[in-house]
Amino acid sequence: MIRKKICMLGAYSVGKTSLVQRFVNNRFPRRYQSTIGVMIDKKIVNLAETEVYLMLWDIYGQDEFRNVQTSYLAGAAGYLLVADGTREDTLDTAVSLRERVEAEVGRLPFVLALNKWDLREQWKIRRKALERLLKDGWSVVRTSARTGDGVEDMFLRLTSRILESSSGKES
Ligand code: GDP
Ligand code: MG
Repeated sequence: MIRKKICMLGAYSVGKTSLVQRFVNNRFPRRYQSTIGVMIDKKIVNLAETEVYLMLWDIYGQDEFRNVQTSYLAGAAGYLLVADGTREDTLDTAVSLRERVEAEVGRLPFVLALNKWDLREQWKIRRKALERLLKDGWSVVRTSARTGDGVEDMFLRLTSRILESSSGKES
């Protein structure tokens, strides 16, 4: 089976852990392999008749931004950038994190999740900022870990990007 490591990246409290839990919950027994500051969940997805074993790496702690180190990213096939739609600065953090990843490990497939879409009345991310990213070819999905909206779509979209970029090669 193809195995792929995916890293969750984003500012503190944007919903990284909630998104993983929403996606994995009840479908695959939860099993944490805790190392210091990192939690790993697993889920098998079927995409275009390919079975993919996803290893979802989720960092936790107070200083998640600074903790993004090469060791966390090592071997990752792709990553999920998460921003909180109700906190504009978290989009800036996502953009910086992406630059950081490129500097550390080079180009990898990623998808940007604008999470907390259930709170869209409090949305702070401006259309202009978003349009710029879309123009740059970013894949953006609105998600709500709370209601589940967009969550599966986002993980599958990322998996699909990963498979395209590696043509299904084992990594
Ligand atoms: P992390 O620090 O990025 O892992 O964020 P968490 O998953 O711990 O979530 C931070 C806070 O945001 C928690 O109180 C969550 O319940 C809340 N949260 C996460 N996702 C959503 C969402 O989609 N909608 C709403 N309303 N709250 C969310
Ligand atoms: Mg967390």
